[in-house]
Amino acid sequence: MLTRQQQLKYSRQIMMKDIGESGQIALSQATILIIGIGGLGNPAALYLAAAGVGKLILVDGDNIEISNLPRQILFNEQDINNNKADTASDKLQQQFPDTEIEVIDEMFDQELADYYLNDANLVLDCTDNINSRYLINKLCVQNKTPLIIGAATGFDGQHLMVNPLDDKSACYHCLYPSSEKAPANNCQTAGILGPVLSIVSGMQALSAIKYITKNKAPINQLSLFDGLTNQWQQFNIRKNSQCEVCANK
Ligand SMILES: [Zn+2]
Repeated sequence: MLTRQQQLKYSRQIMMKDIGESGQIALSQATILIIGIGGLGNPAALYLAAAGVGKLILVDGDNIEISNLPRQILFNEQDINNNKADTASDKLQQQFPDTEIEVIDEMFDQELADYYLNDANLVLDCTDNINSRYLINKLCVQNKTPLIIGAATGFDGQHLMVNPLDDKSACYHCLYPSSEKAPANNCQTAGILGPVLSIVSGMQALSAIKYITKNKAPINQLSLFDGLTNQWQQFNIRKNSQCEVCANK
């Protein structure tokens, strides 16, 4: 049940027939793990807390640097050298006291996955490098935890949902069996613009809300955004029956 205050606060979401009160209750009971609290993780966490998600687990071992500030919109100059997950938690908690926030101020690994993935309804991969993306994909497939991947570099963005609870779902490894074919997307070498991250993380937050509220959140669909032409392109992908990560899992 929602309180009268919650009914008022979330009334514009509840009035959407595909969300309704049951969707809002589902959001309030959901736990979402966000890995990487940088340019994608900042806006994604903001939107999910604002939408009324009950619990966020924020994971990041990095500290804030001055070069992060043009796009990591929860942080300011006083936050430099402080941990990203910790700082984001403080800011979000002030703005959205109803959302419970747990902080993990280290890099995600097998041990953390064993402990936290069973509690999470969903994972958002908001990291900025290919090795993390492969690792998180593998751990989510092993634990059968749905995963929404976002990536961005320069003017380009990418979005993919992987749902290991669905036998037909391709995983990130099906898409890019070797890292040579995967987009390098490292903003330290290629540069990045805040609004591109906001578009991709907005898509991640939207997919997360759709999934939690039992709307269709498409799998096997790679979405690529080109910020120079403002165009999205969707590509249908297929599960690789020989995939070394997700086949027969
Ligand atoms: Zn696969």
